[in-house]
Amino acid sequence: MTGRVVIVGGGAIGSSIAYWLTCEPWPGEVVVIERDPTYARASSALSASAIRQQFSTPVNIAIGRHGFEFLRRAGELLAVAGERAEIGLVERGYLFLASPAGMPALADNHRVQREQGADVELLSPAALGERFPWLSTAGIGAASLGRSGEGWFDGYGLLRAFRRKAGAQGARYLAAAMVGAERTGRRVDAVRLDDGQRVGCDLLVNAGGAWAASIGAMLDIDLPVRARARSVFVIDAAEPLPGCPLVIDTSGVWLRPEGRHYLTGVSPPPERDPDDPPLEVDHALFEELVWPALAARVPSLERLRLVNAWAGYYEYNTFDQNGLVGLHPDLDNAIFAVGFSGHGIQQSPAVGRAVAELIRHGRYLTLDLSPLGLERLRDGHPLVERNVV
Ligand SMILES: Cc1cc2nc3c(=O)[nH]c(=O)nc-3n(C[C@H](O)[C@H](O)[C@H](O)COP(=O)(O)OP(=O)(O)OC[C@H]3O[C@@H](n4cnc5c(N)ncnc54)[C@H](O)[C@@H]3O)c2cc1C
Repeated sequence: MTGRVVIVGGGAIGSSIAYWLTCEPWPGEVVVIERDPTYARASSALSASAIRQQFSTPVNIAIGRHGFEFLRRAGELLAVAGERAEIGLVERGYLFLASPAGMPALADNHRVQREQGADVELLSPAALGERFPWLSTAGIGAASLGRSGEGWFDGYGLLRAFRRKAGAQGARYLAAAMVGAERTGRRVDAVRLDDGQRVGCDLLVNAGGAWAASIGAMLDIDLPVRARARSVFVIDAAEPLPGCPLVIDTSGVWLRPEGRHYLTGVSPPPERDPDDPPLEVDHALFEELVWPALAARVPSLERLRLVNAWAGYYEYNTFDQNGLVGLHPDLDNAIFAVGFSGHGIQQSPAVGRAVAELIRHGRYLTLDLSPLGLERLRDGHPLVERNVV
């Protein structure tokens, strides 16, 4: 296709699509509609920004591997006028801890990961204790540790770098909110903005993150994507934790270093996880779940100090907690890239590239993202990912 591509949402996903699409000259125009250029509430700016290969489905593993390769080279790929992009990539593995009951699932996931070429090793409790002497192995049956190709980075830095590079390559950002759409049958003709503008489109991309369902509603499309609040707590550890990876405890609590501090959090239990709540830190979650679990797993963290906290939204796909990527089956000229459910920033490089291929060539060339297609909603076939954090 050619003509005007209108991307609604200029977070990491929308800006990555704009970047990839403008890497080669585009016969038309690439317009990104982003209502908040400060990104104060955007998930990409509030993310824990970690990347892994330890998923249970081949497509997510492949996306993680592609993403890490991109991040290794992001400094040069996203440089503008000779100035390298700074994304602060730290290569350090995820450490998934499993209880004895969780061992079969861990072993299954490990087998799939190895088949996909992921560099992940299984550790016994004894090996774990030797490797990380500050960690209690009580209640652990086995663990899996990424040896390479996993880690964390500056998510806000990546978003800014995508945006800056896309702009330098010709994408045009409009600081306005989409408030309506014009649709004729299976086609979206135009979007309407809160400043009164009408922007005609040959192709529309919904990259609205936690607000994707409201963009869907403007197109008369019902999307199972809801905002779910996630709190991140910044702590000071009483003692150093040498070589600390990104630990996923059996309780679901996660922990990773960030400079001289550590970040931690947990997904709230379902009865405390409403749809579309206010964006507020859940301090009770820290007291009741996070701290006790940390102190049990890392005894010196009994004496931690909470220094800061923030909250952001997961763009939670209530159908199967995986990205929904591709042409919408009810529309001829609308692509959705939504619903990443807490693993979207690491998926932004691969999703941006794949969606740009879909737009330019009508099919995926480098990475086949068809397992993430929206047909699975219509057909009632969830893509089950067991490793959702
Ligand atoms: C606390 C937390 C921890 C996380 N940890 C990780 C992690 O470790 N690893 C990982 O991969 N992912 C993680 N995630 C998830 C990840 O941050 C998101 O999946 C990703 O940032 C989604 O990017 P996005 O561009 O789709 O959404 P966003 O960054 O939210 O961008 C969407 C944009 O759309 C704009 N928008 C919406 N509606 C409209 C409209 N009508 N008009 C104009 N603009 C509109 C918004 O202003 C927003 O800027 C985490 C998220 C949170 C909150």
